Amino acid sequence: MPKPVPAPSELTKPFWDAVDSRRLVIQRCQGCRRYHHPPVELCAKCLSSDLAFEPVSGRGSIYSFTITHDARQPAFAEIQPYTVAVVELEEQPGLYMLSNIPGVPTGDVKSGMPVEVTFEEVVPGRFIPQFQPSRRR
Ligand SMILES: [Zn+2]
Repeated sequence: MPKPVPAPSELTKPFWDAVDSRRLVIQRCQGCRRYHHPPVELCAKCLSSDLAFEPVSGRGSIYSFTITHDARQPAFAEIQPYTVAVVELEEQPGLYMLSNIPGVPTGDVKSGMPVEVTFEEVVPGRFIPQFQPSRRR
């Protein structure tokens, strides 16, 4: 069974369009320059509706994580157990994305681990962002 495919809304479409081109963009307030993820209609800091998607480095670190052993979703049964991590992007404290950490045994995942974005093709032409240990030193 294939993994679920993202279903972009009008608000999230720019994010997913970039992901499908293997680029990571994050919505940013053009008034106060604060990043927002997931995307919002209004900036929570300055209430501006002037928001745009801007490229980010794709680098961050694992803020927290859990190991999932729940196979109720058949599409994920064959990869049990797997990591679900909160990744804090380096652009802004508290700018988080949820991700798996594919290719890393669950026992090797650590909080604070430097990671970088990679893109998994879930069906032809449709990608999801994932994070892997950083190759930079
Ligand atoms: Zn703002």
